[in-house]
Amino acid sequence: NGTTTLAELDASQLKTTRTPTPRPVPAPNSPEVYAQRTCTDHMITASWTAAQGWAAPELKPYGPLSLMPTASCLHYATECFEGLKLYRGVDGRLRLFRPTRNCARMCTSAARISLPGFAPEELAKLIARLAAVDGPRWLPKDRSGQFLYVRPTLIANDQTLGVQKPKEALLFVIFALFPNMDVSIPAALPNGTTTDGTAARPGLKLLASRDDMVRAWPGGFGYAKVGANYGPSLLAQGEARAAGFDQILWLFGQDSAVTEAGASNFFVVWRTAESGRLQLVTAPLDDRIILDGVTRRSVIELAQQRLANGYKAADGDEELLEPIDVVERRFTMLDVLAAAEEGRLVEAFAAGTAFFIAPVGLVHFRGRDLDIPLAKGESGPYARVIKGWLKAIMYGEEQHEWGVVV
Ligand code: PMP
Repeated sequence: NGTTTLAELDASQLKTTRTPTPRPVPAPNSPEVYAQRTCTDHMITASWTAAQGWAAPELKPYGPLSLMPTASCLHYATECFEGLKLYRGVDGRLRLFRPTRNCARMCTSAARISLPGFAPEELAKLIARLAAVDGPRWLPKDRSGQFLYVRPTLIANDQTLGVQKPKEALLFVIFALFPNMDVSIPAALPNGTTTDGTAARPGLKLLASRDDMVRAWPGGFGYAKVGANYGPSLLAQGEARAAGFDQILWLFGQDSAVTEAGASNFFVVWRTAESGRLQLVTAPLDDRIILDGVTRRSVIELAQQRLANGYKAADGDEELLEPIDVVERRFTMLDVLAAAEEGRLVEAFAAGTAFFIAPVGLVHFRGRDLDIPLAKGESGPYARVIKGWLKAIMYGEEQHEWGVVV
């Protein structure tokens, strides 16, 4: 009667083939890690067809994919991906941070480019399985505070050329060793220089995007983590780097609404002109032009739960933090400039998996440098406190439902 049931993605059907030749694991932050971002010994793949649905996933030795030159993803950007981390905790356990959020976001991204969905928990289970196989050797117990970068990817690999809804797809998950960029100074090396040889200094330097370089627009796909959002951003990013900035601050519209910073969400802390209360402000999701960052969401939730009435650390060595209101709303560069001019700007930071919580020290906008306060020279107090909480959850100092032990 034409109603065939399509197979769901099912982690319990995983078929495992281990590599006979595991590779040496490079030392943390070694030149090899900077140069190559080496992947671990294994990967997971799962193929999908419109006729049958998901085949049984496989865990197998890391290696090249085989694709026809006609594969849809190579022509029509039918590709989406995720980025999360596997953390080695202070208690020696391996944790993922809110992995189901990434897996659910991957389904949202996939839907935007006509790729198939799946139950987010099944992908999370597959990631956990790969973590159990490669984690112990690539992230040994004595490397607490280190992480592996987890990259799930979904591509359409139809073999028939033509702009059409994909009928074949491949999901894969790889783990990579990344330099530890959890520092306020981007990619800082021990000798006080950065990877590009410039002098290290506190705080990210952001270059506000120009009107001829728009990352995302209403009705587009800025909310989706599709490869098509990233390739075209490299031109602006390259110009920013060449001019001595760390990242682009992506603006949108004639009124220069502030959206995101590089591949991170962006927060400011300011005092309102009206009430004098502190606000933690970030762009809203409802325009669908920014990514629903897992870090963004976590910052918002922690600030709502732990900062609404102010904060004083139990050991008393943190300064007393004033109560702060979290506000998700459209705001513009003119709002930020006004706050700065009137002495109401308190701090700004970028928030995302890659650079974690990174204080922002400067924004260059329309020919002028806007200096952003960095208390104690390194980070504003709110960024520091929130970062500390998140780090404690990721590395298991605080037992919390967001830190999922694998
Ligand atoms: N915005 C963009 C455009 C990104 O690519 C990312 C990284 N995924 C983020 C924000 C931050 O998201 P998350 O906190 O989930 O890493």
